[in-house]
Amino acid sequence: MVHCPECEETLEEQSDVEFLDMDSTTGFFRASKRFYLVACGHCGAAIGSGVAGAR
Ligand SMILES: [Zn+2]
Repeated sequence: MVHCPECEETLEEQSDVEFLDMDSTTGFFRASKRFYLVACGHCGAAIGSGVAGAR
C-alpha cells in the first residue's frame, strides 16, 4: 500500500496509517472538502495527503 520514506516501514493496512482530519483544525479547507493527512503509524512521518469530497 504505502512505503514510509522515513522508517521504511511498509504500511499495508489502513490501520497502519493515521488519517488526520484537518477540516476542523485549520479552517483553511472549507466544508465542501475534507483534507486528510496520512501519517506513518510507526514513526509519525507524513506520507501523503488527499482531499475527499464531502457527502
Ligand atoms: Zn515511518
